[in-house]
Amino acid sequence: ATPVAIMVGTGVGASNGILIKTGEALQQAKEIDTVVLDKTGTITSGKLKVEEAGGYQSDFPMDAMMQIAAALEKKSEHPLAEAVVEWAEQFGLAIPEIVDFKATFGRGVEGTLAAEFRAVESVKNDGPTAVFYAGKQNDTTDGSGKTTEQNQMARNTVSGASSVIIPAGTKFYVGNLAFLQENHITLPEEATEGLNRMADEGMTPLLVAQEGRFLGVIGVADTVKATSYEAIRVWEKMGVKVIMLTGDNRRTAEAVRQKLGISEVVAEVLPQDKEKKVSELKRQGHKVAMIGDGINDAPALAAADVGMAIGAGTDVAMESADIILMKNDLRDAVTAMKLSRSVIRNIK
Ligand code: ADP
Ligand code: MG
Repeated sequence: ATPVAIMVGTGVGASNGILIKTGEALQQAKEIDTVVLDKTGTITSGKLKVEEAGGYQSDFPMDAMMQIAAALEKKSEHPLAEAVVEWAEQFGLAIPEIVDFKATFGRGVEGTLAAEFRAVESVKNDGPTAVFYAGKQNDTTDGSGKTTEQNQMARNTVSGASSVIIPAGTKFYVGNLAFLQENHITLPEEATEGLNRMADEGMTPLLVAQEGRFLGVIGVADTVKATSYEAIRVWEKMGVKVIMLTGDNRRTAEAVRQKLGISEVVAEVLPQDKEKKVSELKRQGHKVAMIGDGINDAPALAAADVGMAIGAGTDVAMESADIILMKNDLRDAVTAMKLSRSVIRNIK
């Protein structure tokens, strides 16, 4: 394309909240045949909410489990972590102090109670099937643009609360199945069923454990942006292949894939593997656009033919990208590709 065509193209982009950093990015965008999408925060709103939780130990109250989980997650910056902390704060639950905190990328968090913690048993612990909180969100995947309904809070409070004392120095974990397995914590069969059901409903199950003992599961839910659904339909029509890439649970990813009608999903990928997938597609001769928002997407954004950072993405993501989509709307990625096609066409 001529310099003038590129100037016009980047100008039109900018006025639509699409910042195209280089002329090369604009030219490359027209040749894209494969779009790789991060799930959390890119396809979905990334505004996560605790939707369910279940405790599996009769001597460990569920509120206590949630308080411990919130204490660990308070030290994490992951969107999943924010949802758990927000939940505890909403109910005004005390959040104990954690020391020796450690976060493992794509896995979970661990830490130790700084001081003895006296948890009040205020919530019914019904064992394996216990769900003390249920506030289903409205589904926006049909593209109807329905807004998410305010979550209905519900906790089954029991009277005659007793308190449970958890000693200082007790170690806890919150993370996915692989994380618990790596720490030699096994799940009872009912728990596996419970977390599979949550995942099949599109939730991300967070497993809570103490050293050597499984405690329970927290189901965190996200909502698919209606604009993502629309963008994917347009790519379909353009003959562009769409692949979803996520560190999330395979079953959760599959539930989202089905809702959106995406042809391919790669789940349970570690951050470094996102880049590998993009590079592999390029080696196969594809022209690849990667769209993501997180720190963990940065290497893949840099590796792609065209990397696009979306929304109020992290600084690292924005630095690594060739195009920045300011409005957190995947349809703008479609616009960028169409813009590129029209700019090139105009100079022929
Ligand atoms: P994504 O690609 O969806 O942004 P990540 O690579 O950040 O996912 O995380 C992958 C998985 O690791 C999460 O779905 C979750 O199961 C687990 N995980 C990561 N960080 C945390 C955390 N702070 N607390 C609990 N689980 C976590
Ligand atoms: Mg993300």
